[in-house]
Amino acid sequence: MASVPELKIGVIGLQGAVAEHVEALNSTLKEMKLKGAAYPIKRQAQIEDVHGLVIPGGESTTIGRLLQQRGMAEKIVKAAEKGTPILGTCAGLILMAKEVYDAKVSLLPQPLLGLMDMKVVRNAFGRQRESFEDLVDIPLLGRDPYPGVFIRSPLVERVWGENEAIGRWREKIVAVQQGNLLATAFHPELSRDRRFLQYFVKHILDAL
Ligand code: GLN
Repeated sequence: MASVPELKIGVIGLQGAVAEHVEALNSTLKEMKLKGAAYPIKRQAQIEDVHGLVIPGGESTTIGRLLQQRGMAEKIVKAAEKGTPILGTCAGLILMAKEVYDAKVSLLPQPLLGLMDMKVVRNAFGRQRESFEDLVDIPLLGRDPYPGVFIRSPLVERVWGENEAIGRWREKIVAVQQGNLLATAFHPELSRDRRFLQYFVKHILDAL
């Protein structure tokens, strides 16, 4: 492992839970004794420069529009095709989906990156249960369940093709993986359990 470069992890920094991701990823790198840094990125040229990329939670409609306006959407799709590990959380998961609908509004047109073979329902918990923490079953992180933090969370209704359900909350799909692409309905950056972020960082190491 002597030749591991200083890792650069870009967090799309246009709107949403940006600082939380930067902080949690920097702590994760430190705990894993890896050199490198996570930092917010706002310009398309920065996307080619990173070893891994995070699309954070926030408002998927807003983030999606800004990504398009700034020419970043196209670069993210290219990075995904090149094999760069990408983690989308919550709004990020919505943006990575090929198909999305809203539980309340019918057929909401919103710009998507369309990277992952899945159908996602936005705001799946409605008002009654906007935010909560509960245990998620993610077998590849080990036998202990993972404490997922859900905030106005989406759910994955269906996966197909190469996309695989890797995490479930009460039978519902809340974490998925398609090769170099990972996405969660919960917020791993807000969880005291770092296993999911460690799993993402391991992907980045494997892709070097
Ligand atoms: N409900 C938000 C959306 O649809 C996602 C919420 C979140 O990212 N915490 O964009």
